[in-house]
Amino acid sequence: MLHTPHAPTSRPRASSRRLRAALLASAVSVCLVAASAPPVPLGVGDRLFPHLGNPGYDVAAYDLSFTYSGKNDEPLKAVTTIDARTTADLDRFNLDFAHGKVESVEVDGAPASFTPVGEDLVVTPVDALEEGERMRITVRHSSDPVPPKKREGGWVRTADGLAMANQADAAHLVFPCNDHPSDKALFTIRVTAPDGHTAVASGAPADVDRAGGTTTWTYRTRHPMATELAQVSIGRSAVLHRTGPHGLPVRDVVPAEHRAALEPWLTKTPSQITWMESKVGRYPFETYGLLVADTVTGFQLETQTLSLFEKDLFTERAYPRWYVESIMVHELAHQWFGNSVSPHRWSDLWLNEGHATWYEALYAQEKADKPLRARMKAAYGASDGWRAAGGPPAAPKPPEPGSKIGIFRSNIYDGAALVLYALRQEIGSPAFERVERAWVTRHRDATATTADFVRLASEIAGRDLGGFLHPWLYGEKTPPMPGHPDWKPSAAGGARTE
Ligand SMILES: [Zn+2]
Repeated sequence: MLHTPHAPTSRPRASSRRLRAALLASAVSVCLVAASAPPVPLGVGDRLFPHLGNPGYDVAAYDLSFTYSGKNDEPLKAVTTIDARTTADLDRFNLDFAHGKVESVEVDGAPASFTPVGEDLVVTPVDALEEGERMRITVRHSSDPVPPKKREGGWVRTADGLAMANQADAAHLVFPCNDHPSDKALFTIRVTAPDGHTAVASGAPADVDRAGGTTTWTYRTRHPMATELAQVSIGRSAVLHRTGPHGLPVRDVVPAEHRAALEPWLTKTPSQITWMESKVGRYPFETYGLLVADTVTGFQLETQTLSLFEKDLFTERAYPRWYVESIMVHELAHQWFGNSVSPHRWSDLWLNEGHATWYEALYAQEKADKPLRARMKAAYGASDGWRAAGGPPAAPKPPEPGSKIGIFRSNIYDGAALVLYALRQEIGSPAFERVERAWVTRHRDATATTADFVRLASEIAGRDLGGFLHPWLYGEKTPPMPGHPDWKPSAAGGARTE
């Protein structure tokens, strides 16, 4: 296929040069060149999601205001304000936004024109912007909790309201944004809801304002957050407070009617945080807790400071206790791995899921006698099959259109934990543990790449590990496991696609 060449608006001369070259190359009539380039969806160059994020600016802060009617199938009224700094001269720019009506857009207080194109909203301010300028974008829009056809994510409708699940590419179904984890920003989130509802969002509570039958709750993050990790819960909720290590506020949000059944699980969080801190160091955010949603999602999600869990994980008796606890630790571990340290590109997702799976499995080993080595041996057997189905851990295949699993396949879970196991086998536990602690310290509140991880591991091991790690991260076949020459890929591998 030949795609329309991207025509970034950021540098008009460069873009028209690039466009002209592309048009000549494809032998399209050159008279098109004279016209200004039509608005097109843009991206930051993510191999897996080419249209996520946008060039030309860097968001510093989002201010999201939602007004909820009390019915979770009606669009919310919303105002999204974005404070950004331009990183190029711009006569127009794109936001990611794909599911809601836009009423108006202002740039620095002046009305701007806007055109939806694909999953982008192309905004043209009255005055062109220069590189390095601050700009404030205000978008008045609706935010529709009923998902578009063949698309999932964004708002999740629960029995008593709404929650959010934006990973990997759905925040822009909820609010206009630069929807890529490489552009983290501070968030202020305001929700107005009728009396009887409670709203909680990522970050710490900043204000509660009751007036005329409604309440407005305001939350603010103290650390930058990726759009995919934002959480907003609206429901008939109980908000439960307890204290974690060194006075950390722990806040759970649960359907009020299920509070008693959930309480025995919720009490485990403080000691799980203590356990994670003993492995990798201080918890990175201002608060933690579980958002338990009465809905069937089929997944749990590490939304920042407030992880989303489906209620049935805790109330369905079929799940063994050790399994549920290790899943709780998986989402908790993501607060360090994935949230505080975010992937620079979605191909770096193995750094999120490999580490979360690692601590999930380590917790199960230490607390429930489920040997890590046995799990890793099984993963080794399946790894060639996972690589064939989903690509190697650090170069996953693009998501299949319409697939529920998307890029979240076994190659980046146990397949990536296996890479960490191989690294530990190669450099020994003390050095491996130093790598883990240094990783979350060095890249705290930032984004990092697979190359950054290889560099850090090499630095701590005192030798170049590129030659060792590259086949583990990018190879079609699983390399031999150091210390376990008897481990063999299973001949049955290859069928599993999940
Ligand atoms: Zn995970």
